[in-house]
Amino acid sequence: MLDEFEYTDDLLHDYWRYLLGQKKKFDPWLEDRDDIAAANALIVLIQRATGLLARQLTQLEGAFMETGGIREKMTAARLDARADASAPVCPDCGASMKQRTSNRGPFWGCSAFPKCKGLRKIGEEEKVTS
Ligand SMILES: [Zn+2]
Repeated sequence: MLDEFEYTDDLLHDYWRYLLGQKKKFDPWLEDRDDIAAANALIVLIQRATGLLARQLTQLEGAFMETGGIREKMTAARLDARADASAPVCPDCGASMKQRTSNRGPFWGCSAFPKCKGLRKIGEEEKVTS
């Protein structure tokens, strides 16, 4: 069983702190004159490091399934930027609009929503902004 591993924002640092703590714990056996005892302690340390990596990979897989990979995030950011560049201005407050989707289809909604409920139909933006 692994000793408790605490995650913070600096995972690499946490990882090394944990492993150094484990090494300290096993130092008496690692320096044992009996080669078998030293080898066994080393194997336990390697198993703990491997277990930690396996847990980290499982966590990363979960995060990937939830929020997507870097390519997916960059595509979303690019689409947002493109949508904003061609976005019309809100008829009610003058803020830029964002393309949104309802069960009736896509429409322009005010970026200040929910403070402002300004709307435009898709295709009507050229008439108003020019
Ligand atoms: Zn508005």
